[in-house]
Amino acid sequence: MVSGGSVNPQGAPEGNPGGSAQPKKLRRALIFLGPPGAGKGTQAKEIAQMYGLPHLSTGDMFRDHVARGSELGRRAKPIMDAGQLVPDDIVLGMVEERISQPDCAGGFVFDGFPRTIAQAEKLGKILERTRFGSPVVLLLEAEPEELVRRMGSRLACAKCGTTYNLTVQPPRETAKCDRCGGPLAQRADDREEVVRERLAVYERQTKPLVDFYRKRGELNELDGTKPVETVRRELMDVLGRLS
Ligand code: ADP
Ligand code: AMP
Repeated sequence: MVSGGSVNPQGAPEGNPGGSAQPKKLRRALIFLGPPGAGKGTQAKEIAQMYGLPHLSTGDMFRDHVARGSELGRRAKPIMDAGQLVPDDIVLGMVEERISQPDCAGGFVFDGFPRTIAQAEKLGKILERTRFGSPVVLLLEAEPEELVRRMGSRLACAKCGTTYNLTVQPPRETAKCDRCGGPLAQRADDREEVVRERLAVYERQTKPLVDFYRKRGELNELDGTKPVETVRRELMDVLGRLS
């Protein structure tokens, strides 16, 4: 599974879907924060493509390790299946290695990272050291029952990771990826009992990051319940105002 590239299940025009001027270059670390199902992946992939930045989803990276049967994948799988967080040292090692790659020299878009205060603090140090400065945090929020509904109807391509939704973003052909033709399936951790545990884990371990970044003046709050296109336009407005 790859983590990046264009995700455009409904065939909207690519590169500049909002129809506004070409986005300016951003040498920044963007962070998509929010509960599972809030739309981080949907938006982060598009924004990354529009700004020419790599999309770094730690969830996709772990799923890739699981699919390849690597040592890291074997350690992460039972934790992911239970809806818990992979230990910070494992996540941070994987992220540090990834952002040292040449394609990250001009900035990157995190999706699902950081997820604990310890991850956020370590990331802050890395960004200082690598002269990226303060991150741009984009918080997407929605009510728990909406999140449960969304994840219950989410489908993901086993080959390229593109996500769909049976209600709002259906694939053109049943169970087949528009982008690569790969098979679509529900994620193992999108079963309702695991989803509820993931939401509880978010409240306990990740939500404190909202205040962490708000206090630093780095938080941008967006209403994730609006339609996909509206959220994207609002994200572009936020990014367009950055100096
Ligand atoms: P996350 O990465 O935050 O877990 P996703 O981007 O995978 O969330 O979105 C979860 C599900 O909700 C997907 O099936 C996606 O198609 C759908 N979705 C994303 N954004 C919206 C939205 N604004 N309104 C309704 N459904 C959405
Ligand atoms: P996601 O695709 O972001 O919903 O992540 C799927 C699963 O991967 C999570 O439920 C965690 O088990 C694991 N995971 C992804 N990102 C992180 C992270 N930053 N810290 C800890 N675990 C993570």
